[in-house]
Amino acid sequence: MPAGSLRKHIVSVGECMVEMAPTGDGTYAMGFAGDTLNTAWYLRRALPSGMQVDYLTAVGTDAISGRMLAFLEEAGLGTDRIARIPDRTVGLYLIEIANGERSFAYWRGQSAAKLLARDAAALEAGLADASVIYFSGITLAILDPADRARLIEALAAARAAGSTVAFDPNLRPRLWPDAAAMCAAISEAARHADIVLPSHEDEATFFGDTDAEATAARYAEAGAGLVVVKDGPGPMITLSAEGRQSHPPEAVSRVVDTTAAGDSFNAGFLAAHLTGEPLAEAVRAGARLAARVIGARGALVD
Ligand code: ADP
Repeated sequence: MPAGSLRKHIVSVGECMVEMAPTGDGTYAMGFAGDTLNTAWYLRRALPSGMQVDYLTAVGTDAISGRMLAFLEEAGLGTDRIARIPDRTVGLYLIEIANGERSFAYWRGQSAAKLLARDAAALEAGLADASVIYFSGITLAILDPADRARLIEALAAARAAGSTVAFDPNLRPRLWPDAAAMCAAISEAARHADIVLPSHEDEATFFGDTDAEATAARYAEAGAGLVVVKDGPGPMITLSAEGRQSHPPEAVSRVVDTTAAGDSFNAGFLAAHLTGEPLAEAVRAGARLAARVIGARGALVD
């Protein structure tokens, strides 16, 4: 095996959007975020510089798409696998805060990222040399059914060639025609994943899991060798070759903003797991990072 092939190369697949966050004085601050991007961003920070983290998506050829690419590059993420599609642009969401509660309005119907799996050859090339591929239920949700099938096919091919596939089901019923379609697509995708990182509360709502163990067992049955179930402030459950384990949560004195709790957990966990930490230590690293992220405002916390 050539020495170079030992180098870990992670490719995160999904949609990055423009974020408009209220500043409190009637104006909005512009940023960039999105579940798989948040995880890539935290992975880049948590991993040694010798490990490459790429983002695979599609953007437009307009100025705001250019700014997004510049942001990704500045964050140290590889952008070679990002397609540029004329006549499309990037999606946008706006955060509203009323009585301390955040709500989100989205403009993403025409976003270029919906076409990230349109070109089979580019997709295959984008995933070919990845040692780890990360994607989510939101990645699936934004694609039309033919593109979704193409992505699953490319993931399966990469996995057959040796890539490890990690998946966060990230259930978002608003992005799907109905809950049944969402559950069917998530279950199908999970069959192609080695590592599944679900959040129990969402899973209980849509799959009827009675507890975190049931969520873990369902994804293990689908074929994942490692399942890590997050459960907000509750213990995390892992199901792996080491059997079933429960991991204590991190104490958080003040929850400021839970945005990206799961995304950052996944990054902290994967970074530690991929660098050879024992499972319990990797879960602790995920929980530690998530605890820091929910103690401050915004998705991307320095
Ligand atoms: P998601 O953001 O995907 O819904 P969860 O709410 O399950 O995910 O939270 C993900 C992780 O964030 C948890 O496993 C835990 O490590 C951390 N976390 C979330 N909420 C809290 C909390 N109130 N106290 C401590 N940790 C939390």
